[in-house]
Amino acid sequence: MGEFDLIDTFFTHRWPARDDVALGVGDDAAVLNVPSDSQLVIATDTMVSGVHFDEQTPARAVGHKIAAVNLSDLAAMGAEPTWLSLALTLPEVDEEWLTSFSHGLREICEYYDCQLIGGDTTKGPLTLTLTAHGLVPRGQVLRRDGAKPGDWVYVSGTLGDAGLALACQQHQQSISDSHYRRVLERLYFPSPRIALGQNLRDVASSAIDLSDGLYSDLGHILKSSQVGARIDVDELPLSLALTESVDADTAINFALTSGDDYELCFTVPESKRGVFDTVMARHPAKPTCIGRITNQPEKLRLEREGEPWQGLDKQHGYDHFG
Ligand code: ADP
Ligand code: MG
Repeated sequence: MGEFDLIDTFFTHRWPARDDVALGVGDDAAVLNVPSDSQLVIATDTMVSGVHFDEQTPARAVGHKIAAVNLSDLAAMGAEPTWLSLALTLPEVDEEWLTSFSHGLREICEYYDCQLIGGDTTKGPLTLTLTAHGLVPRGQVLRRDGAKPGDWVYVSGTLGDAGLALACQQHQQSISDSHYRRVLERLYFPSPRIALGQNLRDVASSAIDLSDGLYSDLGHILKSSQVGARIDVDELPLSLALTESVDADTAINFALTSGDDYELCFTVPESKRGVFDTVMARHPAKPTCIGRITNQPEKLRLEREGEPWQGLDKQHGYDHFG
C-alpha cells in the first residue's frame, strides 16, 4: 500500500466533516472559515514510540491519546476544538495497527465534532505529531498569567492515576487487577476537560492542563503570574484505586509529581466564586479546591493542617532535557 492509498483508506472515508471546512484532506493545504468574532487557538504535541508509549500500548489508545493530549491544551485555553492535522511517521505500513490507530483517533474526532483536515505521512521511527485548532470568543481565552493573590486554586478529576499505571507497567508498584484496569484506562484514554474549560472562560483568572504533574504545572502558573500558592496536600483529589493501592504519602506524591493526568488546574477569584459554584452545579464532577494563591512569587508551599508538608520526592514532573 502506497502513501496515497494509506491516506485514502485510513484517514479519509467515514471521518466527521464540519461545515466550516472549505477544503480538507486531498489538496496541498486545508482551507478553513474562521468566524470573525473568534480567535484561533492552536496547540501541537508529539508522541514518540519508546518515549511517550511503548509496544504494549494498544494502537487505538495511541490514536485516542495523541488527540486527547492536544485537546487538553485547547481545554486549558477555554477553546472549542474544531480541526486537527496529523503528521504520521511510520516504520512500515502495518494495516492492523493503522486500522486501530485511526479508529481511536476518529472516535475522539466524532465525539468532539473535530475534523481531520490534513497532515503528512513519512517513513521513519514511529512518531505522531498532531496539531489541534480551536476557537474561542475574542478576548475570552484562559491564560497562565492571570492568577492574583487571594485567588482559589482548583483541580478537576483525580490526580496520579495515570502515573500509578505507568509505575505498575515499569514494575515499580504492584496493585490489584481491578485497580490496575481503572488506572490503565486513565493512562491510555485520558479525557480532555473540554466542557469545563469552556465553562471557566468567565470565571477563572488562569488555567493550565496537567501533563507533567501538578507540582510542575502549577509552577508554570506561579511563574507566569508572578505569585505563589499554598496547597493543602490532604485536599488533593485521589481515586480509590490510588488510595487503596499505596500508602498515604506515596499517593500524595503520585498526585503531585506524576504526569499524564490531563486534568485542569485553574484559579478563581473570590468575587467569581458564586458564579463558579452556580456554573459547576450543572457539572457531573465538581472540581476540588486545593489551596490559595499567595503574594510570594514562585513559592509553592505544601501544607498539612497549616504546617509545611515535607514528604515530597525529589523529582518533580517530566522534563525531556532535564
Ligand atoms: P504534499 O506532497 O503536497 O505535501 P501530501 O502528499 O503530503 O501532500 O498529502 C496529500 C494530502 O493528504 C494533503 O491534503 C495532506 O494534508 C493529506 N495528508 C497527508 N498525510 C495525512 C495524514 N496522515 N492524515 C491526514 N491527512 C493527510
Ligand atoms: Mg503539496
